[in-house]
Amino acid sequence: MKAGLSPRLFLVVFMGILLLAPLTLSAFYITLLNYIGLYAMVALGLVLLTGVGGLTSFGQAAFVGIGAYTTAVLSTSAELPAWIAWAGGAPWISLVVGLVLTAAVAVLIGSLTLKLSGHYLPLGTIAWGISLYFLFGTMATLGGHTGLSGIPAISVFGVELLQGHQVYYLIWAFLLLGIFTTRNLLDSREGRAIRALKGGIVMAEAMGVDTARSRMVIFVIAALLACASGWLYAHMQRFVNPTPFGLHLGIEYLFMAVVGGAAHVWGALVGAGVITVLKQWLQDVLPKLLGESGNFEIIVFGILMVLILHKARGGLWPIIVAGVNRVVPIRVDRRRIDPNATPLPRRNMPAAGDVLLEARDVTRRFGGLVANNNMSLSVRAGEILALIGPNGAGKSTMFNQVSGVDTPTSGEVLFLGQSVVGKGSRAISRLGMSRTFQHVKLLPTMSVLENVAIGAHLRGSKGVLASAWRMDRVEEDRILAEAARQIERVGLAEHMHDEAGSLALGQQRILEIARALASDPCLLLLDEPAAGLRYKEKQALGDLLKRLRGEGMGVLLVEHDMDFVMGLVDRVVVMEFGEKIAEGLPEEVQKNPAVLEAYLGGVE
Ligand code: ADP
Ligand code: MG
Repeated sequence: MKAGLSPRLFLVVFMGILLLAPLTLSAFYITLLNYIGLYAMVALGLVLLTGVGGLTSFGQAAFVGIGAYTTAVLSTSAELPAWIAWAGGAPWISLVVGLVLTAAVAVLIGSLTLKLSGHYLPLGTIAWGISLYFLFGTMATLGGHTGLSGIPAISVFGVELLQGHQVYYLIWAFLLLGIFTTRNLLDSREGRAIRALKGGIVMAEAMGVDTARSRMVIFVIAALLACASGWLYAHMQRFVNPTPFGLHLGIEYLFMAVVGGAAHVWGALVGAGVITVLKQWLQDVLPKLLGESGNFEIIVFGILMVLILHKARGGLWPIIVAGVNRVVPIRVDRRRIDPNATPLPRRNMPAAGDVLLEARDVTRRFGGLVANNNMSLSVRAGEILALIGPNGAGKSTMFNQVSGVDTPTSGEVLFLGQSVVGKGSRAISRLGMSRTFQHVKLLPTMSVLENVAIGAHLRGSKGVLASAWRMDRVEEDRILAEAARQIERVGLAEHMHDEAGSLALGQQRILEIARALASDPCLLLLDEPAAGLRYKEKQALGDLLKRLRGEGMGVLLVEHDMDFVMGLVDRVVVMEFGEKIAEGLPEEVQKNPAVLEAYLGGVE
């Protein structure tokens, strides 16, 4: 372990400064800090949503508005309708009502927009962001464009938070709570599922992650953080109108997250701080410098943003950490692996020789192209079947048909006796089939350990709340111990804590095998696992596969490397132009004239 100062120490110093700040600062700076705290809370939601989950939203200001207006209406209306009258006049109750309403609106909006991909999603968020903004300005009960005033201050233990420095503590307590729970969440089973979204839906689903659910989870959490910010804002200002809840602020929140470092929870705070202070400062300085009044800050601000996006794509937080590290080394605390954690439960393995997978007459057409034509194959427990054939023969397509990534045009696929056509890869992986990818799909900035732990997703059950409040540690220890065991099994132990992206391509393929094994499969599908491996590594891989076979695992292997296949597998299926041209023992197939003609003749 590297020596250096514990990150905890920095945290304690930071909290100390926060605690003492109001005692030394003027009212102006306290207000500034209050705004930074409020903005950071919204930006924190965007770190989760955009930085981690890869879903860009310009509409967060609208959720701030829902939080602010809910409490404004509930605490100022003289006559509330009977059904909601119980919630009137009590800010803490209207916070709860606001959060429930926000969650409901977020689920509704999310179910309509989160299915959109590419740039359609950000456009969708702009659309509902604008709609909600106009709703705030149009509804008479919300005070139209004049807004609502006379909002009471929040009381905590009977003390009314009337002054800036009083609200300050509440705002920062909320923000820190948000930061810590978000950080806990990201470092958990549920958090890995969220982070897996960036590795692509195909990979995440194949590891058993319900990606639609994960997207919804982060969308709702981001909305709730925005709502809480709005609630605090309304009671701090004691007044609301629609202006701060429009698209303009929606864009600014996104800037904060990106500038601060959208992949880090503390980036939200840095971004909110830098942008708020910078804007204030430019607003003061520029007119004096230029001798003219006007909104020059917006122009300079825009240029600065472009520069930051150019020069520091990861945002300011990683730069700050690197800078501090150069002065005083910060200790990197590795995740402890508990070798004594109770092993995760294992599935009942089928008996050796049982048929695991059976594909019958599978045909897949892409328009006029028949990529698979009446393909049949079967894999038994305790056997390695190789699917070989020249490039473009249809091997990967066949892989996708049996693993649920794609659906055959016609034909039947049975796994453990049941039809899995149209089931989807998540359901199939739950049944005990796990795979690797021809084009490696992993999360390069996550450690090898965490990447492999994604494979064990379906073997745990702890959800968002348990993770956020650290009530998942027993299960988490078991999952990480399992991941570590698989990493040792495939021979990557020395890279356990390295970033997955720093491994050589061959090792990344091995990592994918460990990840697949972490799901405790009975059938392993490997798409060209030996590609990019050196001779020694191929030997080690071959030994591993033989060991797995000995334990009763079935393996379906797509491979190019003939020598690798011939010394290893039990049976071979040869494809050409989407069809099966031969099947049999390796030495038989090797002598088959059709195969020699189609494949070996051309390649060797
Ligand atoms: P292999 O893995 O044996 O090299 P593939 O299964 O990747 O071959 O491809 C078989 C054929 O199907 C190729 O001609 C390829 O271009 C075509 N193909 C594969 N996927 C698609 C797709 N999604 N849409 C259209 N054509 C496809
Ligand atoms: Mg292929």
